[in-house]
Amino acid sequence: MMETLEVESLVFEVRRSPRRTTLELTVDRAGELVIHAPETSDPQDLARWTRSKLLWVHGKLANKAEVAPRVRQPEFVSGESFSYLGRSYRLKVIHGAKESLRFDGRNFLLSSNARSQAADHFRRWYVHTGREWLRERVCLLSRKLSVQAERVEVRDLGYRWGSCGKNGVVYFNWKLLQLPARVTDYVIAHELAHLLEPHHGPELWRILDRSLPDWRMRCEELKLKARDIYWCHDRMVQ
Ligand SMILES: [Zn+2]
Repeated sequence: MMETLEVESLVFEVRRSPRRTTLELTVDRAGELVIHAPETSDPQDLARWTRSKLLWVHGKLANKAEVAPRVRQPEFVSGESFSYLGRSYRLKVIHGAKESLRFDGRNFLLSSNARSQAADHFRRWYVHTGREWLRERVCLLSRKLSVQAERVEVRDLGYRWGSCGKNGVVYFNWKLLQLPARVTDYVIAHELAHLLEPHHGPELWRILDRSLPDWRMRCEELKLKARDIYWCHDRMVQ
């Protein structure tokens, strides 16, 4: 069982080791607080020592809050809104519904039994529903850029909106499907342009200027909108 220590409403995990002779405090990337202590440290001594480090801990945590981009996470409760292609639809959690997640054109209907895996159900819904739509948009923009993608894949790309793989395959993040078409078009054009020019530089901007003259505005819009949708943040890259 994990040993914890609470000091002024901060919770620290205590990791004891027989090989240790000194105390150490670490704040890991996710902001978790860990005290590394010798096997036999007295809890009262630990608390006293930790209290003397609080200023340093608060400084570290404040830094992390500043650098870590905020990602909105849904709670999957009735009344919450989910976006698809820039339009929002309400969620209704339904007791005992047979289907885990269904969209009836007006609402998302989530079975209460499926709430714990709701994020997976939504991801699958977006991929399944949006894939064909995305492929059609890619076709349209391919003509504008005079370039042909070999294949179009929709995946979870973490915090990338899209990427251009080898052999002419372009990948798009399903999270993109929450955004309006004009913004998605920018990401598509960006990845297609990479088929002609792999680097971010004047040549890539020239291709975009030619094919999507207001791409800079759309790119700004992408950043702004990314804050309002789930599972995304405004520093995601293309
Ligand atoms: Zn790029």
